Amino acid sequence: MNKLDLPIIEFTDEQVKFRKEVRKFLEDARDSGTFESKCDSWLSGYDPEFSRKIGSQGWIGMTWPKKYGGSEQSAIERYIVIEELLAIGAPVAAHWFADRQTGPLFLRYGTEKQKEFFLPKITEGSCYFSLGMSEPNSGSDLASISTRAEKTDGGWILNGSKTWTSGAHHSHYMIVLCRTAPKDPKYRHGGMSQIIVDLTSPGVSIRPIKFLTGEKHFNEVFFENVFVSEENIVGTEGDGWKQNMQELAYERSGPERMLSTFPLLGELISVLRENNDKQGLKETMKLVARLNSFRLMSLGVAQYLEEGKDVSIAAALVKDLGTKFEKDIAETARLIISSVPSVHSRKQFEKYLAQSILHSPGFTLRGGTTEILRGIVSKGMIAE
Ligand SMILES: Cc1cc2nc3c(=O)[nH]c(=O)nc-3n(C[C@H](O)[C@H](O)[C@H](O)COP(=O)(O)OP(=O)(O)OC[C@H]3O[C@@H](n4cnc5c(N)ncnc54)[C@H](O)[C@@H]3O)c2cc1C
Repeated sequence: MNKLDLPIIEFTDEQVKFRKEVRKFLEDARDSGTFESKCDSWLSGYDPEFSRKIGSQGWIGMTWPKKYGGSEQSAIERYIVIEELLAIGAPVAAHWFADRQTGPLFLRYGTEKQKEFFLPKITEGSCYFSLGMSEPNSGSDLASISTRAEKTDGGWILNGSKTWTSGAHHSHYMIVLCRTAPKDPKYRHGGMSQIIVDLTSPGVSIRPIKFLTGEKHFNEVFFENVFVSEENIVGTEGDGWKQNMQELAYERSGPERMLSTFPLLGELISVLRENNDKQGLKETMKLVARLNSFRLMSLGVAQYLEEGKDVSIAAALVKDLGTKFEKDIAETARLIISSVPSVHSRKQFEKYLAQSILHSPGFTLRGGTTEILRGIVSKGMIAE
C-alpha cells in the first residue's frame, strides 16, 4: 500500500441525518446554558457533568463492543460526533484522552479484567485518563525517558517524573510509559512498558503549569516510590515502545488536529458577512478550502485505523498540516479584522481570537513537533 493512499469517504444520507441530530442536540445544550463554547475545548473545556451527558448519549467509546459499554458504531459515525463537538467548542477535555486512545489501547492490549473494569466507566463519561510520556529531559526523544518501575512483591515501585501532562490534575489514572529494564545502548526502544497509575496513590504529586491565559491545563507529575499492582501493566512487559507508537496514530490524525480554532473561523465568517467584507471573505474561503482537503485525509485515516491498517505516516502528515492550519485561522482573523482580543471580552469574536492566539503556540508541539513529524513522513516515504 502507498502509505499516503487513503480512501475517499462520502457520507451516506443516514450519516448526514445523524450529523443534524448531533448538531441540534449540541446547539440546544449550548443555548440552554449547559456549556459555553470555546476554542481548544478538547484541552481546556473540563466539565464532568457534560462528559456524563455525552456518555449517556452513547457518544463515548462509540466504536467499542457493547459488552464494554460501547455502541458498536463505525469510525465514521464517531468522526461525525467528534467533529460536531469540536466545531461548537463543547467542553470535552475530561473524557477526551480516554475516548481517543486509552480505550483503543485497552481493547488491543488490555487484559479482560482491565477491559471490564475501565471501559464501561470510560463510556459513561466518569473515568478520565492522562498520557504520561514526556519528561523534563525527554520530549521529542521519547526513547530517552528515565522514569522507572522496579519489581517488588505483587507489583512495581515507580519513581520519576512526567511533564506537560494534559489534564493530570483532573484525571483518575495515567498511562505511564516507563523503563522496566535498564537502558540498553544497542536497542534504545527496548525495556519500556506501559502501566496504569492510579493518580490518588501515595507518592504521586501533581503540580499544574499555567497557560498564557492564566488557566491550568497541563502539569508536572512526580512519582516517589509509588506502588503499582502487577495487574496494572498494559500489554507485554518490555513492549511499551511499540504499543505507545501505535497509539500515536489515534493521537495525531483526528479532527482535533485541525479544528481547535474552528469556533473562531465560524465567528470570523459571521462578522465578515455582517460587514459585507468581500475581500475578507475571499481570504477566509482559502482557509475553508484547505480545511476540506485535510478533513478528507483525516477521514481516510479514521477509516483505515478501524480496518487495522498502519496509518502512522498519514497520521503524522495530517497532524503537521492540520496544526499549521489551525494556527493560520487565528493569524488570518487577526490580520483581517481590527480588534482588541481578550479572553474576558463580551464580543465572541474577540474572546475566541484571544483563546486561539494564546493557545496556538502549543498546537504544533503537543502530540509531536512539526520537525519530528516531517522526519517521520520523509523517512516513511524513503522506506517505501
Ligand atoms: C499543550 C500541550 C499539551 C501536552 N500534553 C502532553 C501530554 O498530555 N502528555 C505528554 O506526554 N506530553 C504532552 N505534551 C508534551 C509534548 O508532547 C512535547 O512538548 C513535545 O513532544 C516536544 O517535546 P519537548 O517539549 O521536550 O521539546 P524538545 O524535544 O526539546 O524539542 C525542542 C525543539 O527542538 C526540535 N527538535 C527536537 N529534536 C529534533 C530532531 N531530532 N530534529 C529536528 N528538530 C528537533 C523540536 O521540533 C522542537 O522545536 C504537551 C505539550 C503541549 C504544548
